[in-house]
Parts: sequence; structure tokens; C-alpha cells
Amino acid sequence: MGLLDKLKPQAPVIRPTDLNLGDDGSLRIRWDDGKDSSYAAKWLRARCPCAECVEEWSGKRVVGDAQVKDDVRPRGMHQVGRYAMQIDWSDGHSTGIYSWDYLLKLRSEG
Ligand SMILES: [Zn+2]
Repeated sequence: MGLLDKLKPQAPVIRPTDLNLGDDGSLRIRWDDGKDSSYAAKWLRARCPCAECVEEWSGKRVVGDAQVKDDVRPRGMHQVGRYAMQIDWSDGHSTGIYSWDYLLKLRSEG
């Protein structure tokens, strides 16, 4: 266990062990707690946490389900450090960084 983990004892550290895209563009993650998650492409795009999609000062979402096209798909994914990944979407949006913690939070919502 690293120093950061000791500083956040209340947060269980769960990380992906496998990550891939389904034929329908859904993101599938297997977590090291043994659970599998599947995130539909449009659903995940509509929950992009970046500053273009969520107003920083108010936390209000400005790009969500109503603004995202049904056929949006991930074009590519890049891991960001050890804590997150960035998704390039087919609508040209690529500033969204999805941390593992955020995806874990979405797991319980989705
Ligand atoms: Zn965004």
C-alpha cells in the first residue's frame, strides 16, 4: 500500500484489471473487486466530467443526455497516468478524463 492510500484510508482502492470496447461502443471494465461494468456509449458521453460539459463554478451540467447524439461512439482511449483515462468521442470531443474513481461512482448509478 502506497503513501496516497494511507492518506485516504476511507476510500477502497479498486482498479480496472481489464478494459475493452464492445461492438456497440459500450465500455466494459472488469474491476479487481471481481465486478464487471458496462457503460453504454451515449450514456457515458453524456456524463463527461470535463469543464466544457460541466460548468466549473456551478457544477451545472451543460452537455448531457439531451445534447449528445444517440450514435456517439468512443474512437479511442488513452490511459492518463495510473488513475484515469481519456476518451476520444466520435463527435470530436476529447477533453473528458474519466478517473477510475468517477467510473466507480457511475457504476453504482448505471
Ligand atoms: Zn466533456
